[in-house]
Amino acid sequence: MFAVLRIGHRPARDKRITTHVALVARTFGAERIWIDEADEKIEENIRGVTSRFGGPFAIESGVSWKKVAADWKEKGGLIAHLTMYGMPADESCAEMRDAKKDILLVVGAEKVPREIYEIADFNVAVGNQPHSEVAALAITLDRLTSGEWINRRFHGGSLEIIPAERGKNVIASEVQE
Ligand code: SAM
Repeated sequence: MFAVLRIGHRPARDKRITTHVALVARTFGAERIWIDEADEKIEENIRGVTSRFGGPFAIESGVSWKKVAADWKEKGGLIAHLTMYGMPADESCAEMRDAKKDILLVVGAEKVPREIYEIADFNVAVGNQPHSEVAALAITLDRLTSGEWINRRFHGGSLEIIPAERGKNVIASEVQE
């Protein structure tokens, strides 16, 4: 099981990018996201997406990142902090896949507390250049699932997209769970 912890969220500046972190988490195989600063708008938005397009996916904001990390470790899960200063993603992801444990992926915003580098079992770099938490999360989940995220089935949504050569083909979901 994968979960995401977003730290350093600034509600006034990061609404859009944190929303994208949550959307990528949901689509690429994570079951939940925690966000350190409270942001009801993002929660509402992501719950709306999940009720329309399915889950499971949980979101909670306004949490203590230290508590989330400590609880995760106590339950035996691994913590992977995504940072350009870390070790190559391909190696780290292979090790994590072999460990067969739940993984909490931590992504920052502006500057992350030093402590997170110590708490993390893995500091994972998606290349050693600065880019984006959205890209880093997508690529890491792609590697961790060996690309299988694309076959994930979502349940309980009210809408289903039918692939179309052109235009939009969206139908009401038949099965409500
Ligand atoms: N200056 C920040 C720092 O010192 O960590 C980086 C800010 S960056 C815009 C926001 C987040 O994107 C980082 O905290 C990290 O989680 C992720 N990120 C950016 N580039 C990355 C890379 N090459 N590999 C892994 N994660 C990356």
